Amino acid sequence: MTEGPAILFDGMQAARRSVRASLLPGALGIRDEDGCELAQWPLVGLRIIDRAAGSIRLAPSAGDARLDVSDPLLAAALGDAVAAMPQGHGRWWFRAAGLAATVLAGFWFAGPLLADALARVVPASVAAKLGDAAVAELVGEDKFCTGVAGQAAIDRLAVTLAAAASVPTPRVQVIDSKVINAFAAPGGQVILTRGVIAAVEGPEGLAGVMAHEFGHVHEDHGIRGVARAAGLHLLAMAATGNSKLGSAGAGVLSIANTRAFERAADAEAVRILGNAGFGTGGLRDFLAGVDKLTGARGFLNTHPESSERVKAIPLRPGTKPVMPEADWKALRQMC
Ligand SMILES: [Zn+2]
Repeated sequence: MTEGPAILFDGMQAARRSVRASLLPGALGIRDEDGCELAQWPLVGLRIIDRAAGSIRLAPSAGDARLDVSDPLLAAALGDAVAAMPQGHGRWWFRAAGLAATVLAGFWFAGPLLADALARVVPASVAAKLGDAAVAELVGEDKFCTGVAGQAAIDRLAVTLAAAASVPTPRVQVIDSKVINAFAAPGGQVILTRGVIAAVEGPEGLAGVMAHEFGHVHEDHGIRGVARAAGLHLLAMAATGNSKLGSAGAGVLSIANTRAFERAADAEAVRILGNAGFGTGGLRDFLAGVDKLTGARGFLNTHPESSERVKAIPLRPGTKPVMPEADWKALRQMC
């Protein structure tokens, strides 16, 4: 196998990327510097954009991506291999097959069971870094709310709920956004919005939302979601201890909450609230009302089918108040 350094222009971002290119049987393989496969471009349909002494610029059959190879041996081998392939518009089916193969090679989806097995071998340090990246993505331009008394109230509730959930106490932060959302990131940190605190009817509703998120934490849904989306790339990160995300992080928010994960987190929430002595009515009321609330789009994106979920949550009264009135007041004013 001929292999060497190359520069990839992916056609979507302006950035150039140092990669490793190799001539495989029937294809040009492109890996990132950590050895994760980025793409395989079939030699059939591969276009030579430019060829000079010791270097070559190649493009796949479709799209704007380009690969510059300046390693003389590899450039010569690739140039000869591409030139030996059938070319021309009459070979459109070769091009179509090549495009399909490129798409398949570029996206590898792990089956859920394999992905869950994968998630179990991911070191906590890698999960935590993935979580940081996901949180940065979710927070975006928003600011964290810094009210000291409000944060202290949240921290106390987090300690109570974590003990009830049998998980290490997650770090819970509030962002100053009117969008109604809550999110449990890989590695166990939880993000709430000002919007979700405003949308719940009282402390019991907030405890319900947090218990649901702690349910995600208990079930490791964050990292399992990433494993389902990023598959082998995640395994490579785990194996090397490297947490450079590439595009894996971008998928965390969109895929983390599958239907099955939501049902499991709701069931966990019922268990956690029960262990803590808190009622389930607040969570039910929140879910029942969330469809009607303006600004709920964020929550509905990541938490679908709220009306169906309400039916699955038994109504149980609490045996004690979730927090003193002063804590709740401080919490509502922490942004
Ligand atoms: Zn959820």
